Amino acid sequence: MTAKRIDGKAKAEQLARTITEQTASLLKEHGIKPGLAVVIIGDDPASQVYVRNKKRRAEACGFHSVQNTLAENVSQPEVLKLIGELNGDDAIHGILVQLPLPGHLDEQIVTQSISPTKDVDGFHFVNIGKLTAGHTDDAFVPCTPAGCMLMIEDELGADPSGKNAVIIGRSNIVGKPMASLLMQRHATITVAHSRTRDLAKVVRNADIVVAAVGRPDMVKADWIKPGAVVIDVGINRVEKLIDGESKSRLTGDVDYDQVCAVASAVPPVPGGVGPMTITMLMFNTLRSARLSAGLKG
Ligand code: NAP
Repeated sequence: MTAKRIDGKAKAEQLARTITEQTASLLKEHGIKPGLAVVIIGDDPASQVYVRNKKRRAEACGFHSVQNTLAENVSQPEVLKLIGELNGDDAIHGILVQLPLPGHLDEQIVTQSISPTKDVDGFHFVNIGKLTAGHTDDAFVPCTPAGCMLMIEDELGADPSGKNAVIIGRSNIVGKPMASLLMQRHATITVAHSRTRDLAKVVRNADIVVAAVGRPDMVKADWIKPGAVVIDVGINRVEKLIDGESKSRLTGDVDYDQVCAVASAVPPVPGGVGPMTITMLMFNTLRSARLSAGLKG
């Protein structure tokens, strides 16, 4: 079998076109322009790139887009004051604080200070609780697992009842919400992590594999049940010798070339889950703007 390459970039572009059209309609029919505020603290180069891409994508969708850059040594009360102002700003429907934060700031206090109704990353405990309880009508689902779910739906339909899903990784931003989403769709879930014994054997039972670990090329072809859908969330920067020269490149948690010989569908890294994540952020922001106007999300 040669797996289908799940083109996350193309899917994200297609979704972004729909978001852009719906944004224009929301403005025309209700006078509301979705507003996204991104808060970045310090000058970490990778975070700067992520924030720039989010701002660019927000503007391309027709959003009101604001970037707040705070100094590396900003105090926690100053950060909370800014978030308080954004919470009260009617032009802003989504607030995102770029992580990781400098060590002197408390990530939990900062993320929990964002109003749940503007928490487009889906990290607020209110949104996590709603997702876990299955009340997603007005909840924000974290962007990465939401994007993975759309990819899985494309391959298996909206109802993967009876399928076994193995999620490798139990983080709050990927593994746990992914498990909630797949459970709501009636898949049978196993969440594996660093203490799981005989991971290869556990994964071999899966019709759906989601790898969110952060270990380059960890998932091998002989772990995969023939025909499984394998979603690679990992983004790892590795050094490779190319023509005798050491070059850095991105790779996922799945050994892509090998696994493609066994699985039915796999997204590449880069160009898979990453572009979907940014677009789902726009989706959540548009949704927040619609909900703020009493419209269906
Ligand atoms: P994380 O918080 O570091 O969590 C990693 C998880 O992997 C943990 O649950 C850990 O288990 C588990 N793990 C570590 N080593 C393992 C092993 N040998 N066997 C089985 N499980 C193991 O990471 P994350 O934030 O979820 O991110 C995971 C990866 O996805 C990273 O590469 C990250 O860059 C990428 N990512 C990509 C996107 C995107 O948009 N494409 C978004 C978010 C994250 P324990 O809990 O036991 O420690």
